[in-house]
Amino acid sequence: MQEILSIRWHSRAGQGAITASTALAKILGSYGKFVQSFPDFGAEKRGAPIVVFNRISNEKIDDASQPSEIDAAVLLDTSLISSCEIPIETLLEGLKENGILLINTPQKALRMDTSSAKVFAVNASEIAIAEIRKDIPNVPILGALVRILNLTKLESFSQKLEKYLAKNLPAEVVAGNLRAFKRGFEEAIKIKSGKNGMKKTCEKLPNWREIPNGAVVRNAGNSKKYDTGNWSQQTCEWDAKTCIDCRLCWSVCPHGAVKIVDGKMAGVDESKCTACRLCVTACPTKPKSLKIVSKKIEEI
Ligand code: SF4
Ligand code: SF4
Repeated sequence: MQEILSIRWHSRAGQGAITASTALAKILGSYGKFVQSFPDFGAEKRGAPIVVFNRISNEKIDDASQPSEIDAAVLLDTSLISSCEIPIETLLEGLKENGILLINTPQKALRMDTSSAKVFAVNASEIAIAEIRKDIPNVPILGALVRILNLTKLESFSQKLEKYLAKNLPAEVVAGNLRAFKRGFEEAIKIKSGKNGMKKTCEKLPNWREIPNGAVVRNAGNSKKYDTGNWSQQTCEWDAKTCIDCRLCWSVCPHGAVKIVDGKMAGVDESKCTACRLCVTACPTKPKSLKIVSKKIEEI
């Protein structure tokens, strides 16, 4: 029977899961492997949940469907679980006995029960912020995945990744990503999960495949999941002392996260802020009255 390694990535749009999956496929293809990489998402918007799949084999792959048996599941954003955008059952769905679960987290142990999965953690967001100054955790978690699945040696993959990234990115960004890849490769650790741990009951909402084509939205703003603040591990902090109340930040914020009370700037609503930085760029004060900061992430 043909041996195929199947990988499923859970991410938010904008975190680079498609790029990482494509890079993985192209680079392993250059070693002579047969590979696939394909995403699955509905109406994509930065921050919305997406799924991406890889298949890797030494023989030609004829199956182009979504893999139902998974060797490794990768979670780039734990807020997908804590916010119930992905129920734990969905994260573990189809994961083989003793399959790999790789998570972007600083946690040294999970609270949730991950059944028989072998769980690995890497603080990919922290690595990405340190090395490329953006919370795009795809490359460090790719490094972790390459090591955990023993796909190839660090130096060999790094050289090919450098060539792949250099096609579209400036040299300094490529260098930062290579450092991030190496750190992800070296810093991933095996962690424990809570066997009797967190049981999270999530309301089952229909996904885009289950909603009838041409469905009518009768009332505006009636979505059950509209808070966008969990789309980032960072948020925006306001300094009232330096603020001149020009409200430029309010005019550029795409998520309605800037609060105006009685006609005056009143701060940032963390439950809506995606840390997109548009307000920071717009803010005219020196020093800026808004800055992007890391926030406490709910443990899973
Ligand atoms: S960073 Fe600023 S502009 Fe972006 S969502 Fe947060 S408050 Fe709005
Ligand atoms: S843009 Fe800066 S100075 Fe203007 S209201 Fe917003 S925080 Fe205050």
